[in-house]
Amino acid sequence: MRCPFCGAPDTKVIDSRLVGEGDQVRRRRKCEVCGERFTTYETVELNLPRVIKRDGSRVPFDLHKVRSGMMRALEKRPVSTEQIDQALARIQRCVIGRGDSEVPSLWIGELVMEELRRLDQVAYVRFASVYRHFEDVAAFREEIERLERQPPDSSPQLDLLEEMQPNGSRDSAA
Ligand SMILES: [Zn+2]
Repeated sequence: MRCPFCGAPDTKVIDSRLVGEGDQVRRRRKCEVCGERFTTYETVELNLPRVIKRDGSRVPFDLHKVRSGMMRALEKRPVSTEQIDQALARIQRCVIGRGDSEVPSLWIGELVMEELRRLDQVAYVRFASVYRHFEDVAAFREEIERLERQPPDSSPQLDLLEEMQPNGSRDSAA
């Protein structure tokens, strides 16, 4: 790093330690040209993007909102908090990894659906039915049939149709 006193292009790190809760590195530097010392702090910059909603408005990316959406879909389902946290961490990594300053909410919804599909197929269909606004029972049945045709890499859920029928008919009545 350039010396702020004499402008020499290089300075030497003479001490380096973690500060705060370990999320920051404090470095003491010394300029070997003018002998001045100074301190720099290094932190991770997460650069979370803004989310473009369906109506075109922009809101800050909020992992808590993503979590509550997932929790609604996972209500009374046999999925542990740890699994949910891991899924959320993957979603956040993916959002940050994309590197865009703005991302469409639809794309985040697809990420959530992808995670739910792996965690629990009932939760997946619940989320997808709200998210994709299944307009009639036919679209709903189509999605369930598509799920059933998939190779059984995730655990088969024989009670899927039974569980979904009350929801399905309620949604279609709207
Ligand atoms: Zn200097």
